[in-house]
Amino acid sequence: MISVVVPIYNEEELIERFHEAVARSLDTTGEDWEVVYVNDGSRDSSLELLRGLQAYDDRVVVVNLSRNWGHMGAISAGLQTASGDAVILMDGDFQDPPEVLPELIDSWREGAQVVVAVRRSRQESRKLLSFLFPLFYKVLGALSDYPIPLDAGIFGLMDRQAVNAVNGLRERNRYLPGLRAWVGYRNAVVYYDRQDRLDGEGKLSFISRIKYAMDAITSFSYKPLRLCFALSCVSLVMVAALALSALFVSSSTLSVGLGIASAVFLVGSMLSFCLGVLGEYLGRVYDEVRNRPISLINEVHYGKDAAASQPRSIIGDVAAFEETEPVIAFKMRA
Ligand code: UDP
Ligand code: MG
Repeated sequence: MISVVVPIYNEEELIERFHEAVARSLDTTGEDWEVVYVNDGSRDSSLELLRGLQAYDDRVVVVNLSRNWGHMGAISAGLQTASGDAVILMDGDFQDPPEVLPELIDSWREGAQVVVAVRRSRQESRKLLSFLFPLFYKVLGALSDYPIPLDAGIFGLMDRQAVNAVNGLRERNRYLPGLRAWVGYRNAVVYYDRQDRLDGEGKLSFISRIKYAMDAITSFSYKPLRLCFALSCVSLVMVAALALSALFVSSSTLSVGLGIASAVFLVGSMLSFCLGVLGEYLGRVYDEVRNRPISLINEVHYGKDAAASQPRSIIGDVAAFEETEPVIAFKMRA
């Protein structure tokens, strides 16, 4: 069986169209399947819509988290719940096109254990992001101590062995494309054209994107720490050069003063930069030491149960309504 895990946060405009497209695409593969939707503390009617899907499709599983945990928290909960022999991760906004699912599954049938969907092109209506994404991947590629497929997000497939391996990694700051590369196994790549979001607004804030980028870099590279060391060497050399020039080159008091002041500022800013880098690593170490869960599941609704219990719960509601109505009427008359 194939599981598809989809994180959902305030996607009421898209849920029904999305499920229809995913179901149509999966039905062409001839495999049994389930879609695990993870409701990540949505404030709109997403949860009700997801439960509504279960009324006519018992292959829908709804995982309801205790609050909004963010994209990675939602995906981790979905990966823990999915029971398929292969698990596909994708976003619920059509940016990862459902038509690509059969290609991922074909690649798995041909023997790949991890299939990474890599973006051949990117449709991005947000101009700042269309500039920042390639920059981020360049920086990550240059810094990473471990080869991570660039221009790939969460979209892709993992077989049961790879899923169990990723589930076994308990680190809190998770950059999933990196972890998926880190566990290894037989990899394959499928290229696709990343679409623009079909409806609604992007849900990840700019700050959470920066945090995600920092998670990616800090969990796969020590190079920023080494850079701090290199910078301290540079500032030592600079201070020495300045002291020598003050001794041997005759110059006005003003230019010596300016030289010393700029050296102090430069060394000061380098130090602050290094402390900032150190802080990023230290904060993450603190996160790991506290060992809090990545996300908390409030409840899991299985479609099969919903299909069985749906008529009963409706009858129950109606019965309760019929019982209470006369009592209220009686009280009002009294
Ligand atoms: N999402 C989530 N929790 C969040 C933010 C987003 O589960 O806190 C979901 C969202 O519903 C979508 C996917 O994660 O299915 C990707 O989010 P979005 O499209 O906003 O990110 P972008 O594509 O803009 O990076
Ligand atoms: Mg998106």
